[in-house]
Amino acid sequence: MAHSLAATITVLAATSAVPSVQAAEFLVRDQAEYKSAVANAAAGDVVRLADGEWRDFEIVFTGIGKLGEPITLTAQTKGKVVVTGRSNLRLAGEHLIVSGLVFRNGHTPTNEVISFRRTREHLAHHSRVTEVVIDRFNNPERFETDFWVVMHGKRNRFDHSYLAGKSNSGVTMAVRLDAEASQRNEHRIDHNYFGYRPVLGANGGETLRIGTSKYSLVESRTVVESNYFERCDGEVEIISSKSGGNVFRGNVFVESRGTLTLRHGNGNLVEGNVFLGNGVAHTGGIRVINKRQTVRNNYLSGLSGRRFGAALVVMNGVPNSPINRYHQVDQAVIENNTIIDAAHIELAAGSDDERSAVPIASHMRRNLIVNSTPRSTITAHDDITGVKFEGNVVSGVTSVPAANGFTEQSVELAQTPSGLKRPLGSQFEKVGAAADLAVVAREETGPPWYPKPNTISSFGTGRTFAAQPGQDTLTQALATTDAGDAVELQAGEYVVTKIIELAHPVTVRAAADAESPPVVRFERSTLFELADGGSVEIIGVAIDGGFAPDAYGNSVIRTSRYAMLHNYAVRVVDSEVANLNTNHSFNFLRVARHTFAQEIEILRSSFKAVSGAVIALNREIDDLGIYNGEYITIEDSRFLDIGGAVLNVYRGGTDESTFGPHVTLHRNTLANVGLDKRNTSEASVFLHGAQEVSIADNEFRASERVRIVKTVGEPITILERNRLIETAAPVVRQRHL
Ligand code: CA
Repeated sequence: MAHSLAATITVLAATSAVPSVQAAEFLVRDQAEYKSAVANAAAGDVVRLADGEWRDFEIVFTGIGKLGEPITLTAQTKGKVVVTGRSNLRLAGEHLIVSGLVFRNGHTPTNEVISFRRTREHLAHHSRVTEVVIDRFNNPERFETDFWVVMHGKRNRFDHSYLAGKSNSGVTMAVRLDAEASQRNEHRIDHNYFGYRPVLGANGGETLRIGTSKYSLVESRTVVESNYFERCDGEVEIISSKSGGNVFRGNVFVESRGTLTLRHGNGNLVEGNVFLGNGVAHTGGIRVINKRQTVRNNYLSGLSGRRFGAALVVMNGVPNSPINRYHQVDQAVIENNTIIDAAHIELAAGSDDERSAVPIASHMRRNLIVNSTPRSTITAHDDITGVKFEGNVVSGVTSVPAANGFTEQSVELAQTPSGLKRPLGSQFEKVGAAADLAVVAREETGPPWYPKPNTISSFGTGRTFAAQPGQDTLTQALATTDAGDAVELQAGEYVVTKIIELAHPVTVRAAADAESPPVVRFERSTLFELADGGSVEIIGVAIDGGFAPDAYGNSVIRTSRYAMLHNYAVRVVDSEVANLNTNHSFNFLRVARHTFAQEIEILRSSFKAVSGAVIALNREIDDLGIYNGEYITIEDSRFLDIGGAVLNVYRGGTDESTFGPHVTLHRNTLANVGLDKRNTSEASVFLHGAQEVSIADNEFRASERVRIVKTVGEPITILERNRLIETAAPVVRQRHL
């Protein structure tokens, strides 16, 4: 195995004044050479993986380096070593450094991609993983849980790395305290780029978790500093701190849905962080639970979240709480924070029969709360006399929760050099976040050699192709497209004889000069099948189901039958869909379990003669808080003679980790909808467990009623100005769990 080592060992020039031994450098070209080199590596040595693809490589990196003379595993050229397939990295020992590797096009066969331990007993200490990339390295099964980086041991550092695109279940990064040797660990997590984490549609989509409830009364003492969190949307917790003595300092959160949550454990410090919501839905700030939490000098702007996802949340606790519920807020200090244009600040949040222990011995002082448009913002849900308010300044806040401790002042904001806003005037010097609050730049995070994505491809961002009427001309045109491209149809008939599989976002639309809507007919059980990564937008097209087989269960669009990692979108605009009735249960959209629509939108379209449902998002039946779609919007559309429901959405269970589903139905007409005997929902619109519902200005004529089952999470349900003609009144039921 060592046959080629002699040739590849080069003696390094002395880099330190007095090296204790001469350091060696090994350039290895395959897994056998790697193993041999690591077995021979001593303090100060460097093992380099040759540039190229390393497939199915379970890297075990062990050794004992010394302070100032670590053993290093790196790439021949940083960024040019790509680890693919079923691969991972375990490191164990002392004074180890790993850098320069890219994990892409694969997934880990174990629970972790990078683990700071080899076995439960053999951990890494005083070691560093820096400038590594884990890019969409997802298990193909959406709900097969794994973690990308798990820190064990003590005094380890994870920094300047890139973690983005985790789409399967499981925390992106975790610090574990499940062994004495991993507690009071003093790890550092800094200057990392935590990029896009799409909505998971279930619990288990946190970006960073430190500890677990079981060990939460143990101190972790992990420092999380100068990281950049961009659109980390997985679930309600961006960061879940479940241990004590952690420091979250100088991190930036951009348009990330959810909050930094001090979920379990005491004595944590949250300071100097910047949250920029830019008004994006469900962006939140900091949620406080437990004892001796300090939240100071943070800057929170444009956060739209409510309830547990608000800009600032101080929770009620459970008296004598079990370890995994809510410990009372005690001795919290919340001071010198700047909160601009926040939709909500929630105090004594979650107050109910169980969570009745109000915050005690706590302080909120010298915070600056400014709204450019006056609104109430601050809500106290219970007795807050246990919070002492002093010297808080509010502007544009229409009501404050306590008689003392808040002064309403006219505040004029000006931009500081770091891009944040500060009030003009010396009277505000000691209020809000400091003028010199540092903001880590996006470019300072992650490895400098790996580009961060600027946009995600979506509809209408690419080229346009033309298709002429005829048989399979649409199929041929679509075969030439890339993500974001469009195919334009002239007036005439398009017959599709094969299922069209779409693996990227694509638009099918009528040409601007088409004299009448092009008509698409299909001969197979579906017209479009969305493969993982596929999305479809249909504009100005007539789709006729009359050529579909005389068999039950057809559809116009269906998802892959298997789990899909990528969230997809379906848009139908100015289109006409008819004759989906060659047999029973013909749906417009049929989805499979463990698939997830980020957005389904139907605008100004008509659906006529459909034997099944128009949109059925009801395949997650395990009552685990999992569901099939986030935003469903249907507006200005007509539905006539539909056997099933126009919309059927099911989200079961008691989990509160998600923001959706969101359903909007405005200005539609439904006539003779839902009356087929196979429509077990017995509804024209059936919504179970949706979180935000607005059904307004619709006309229901000779149709089944609307049925809504409300479950957890204080859902918002608006039903107004609907005209009911020969249709029973909606039923809204609260399900007590
Ligand atoms: Ca969670």
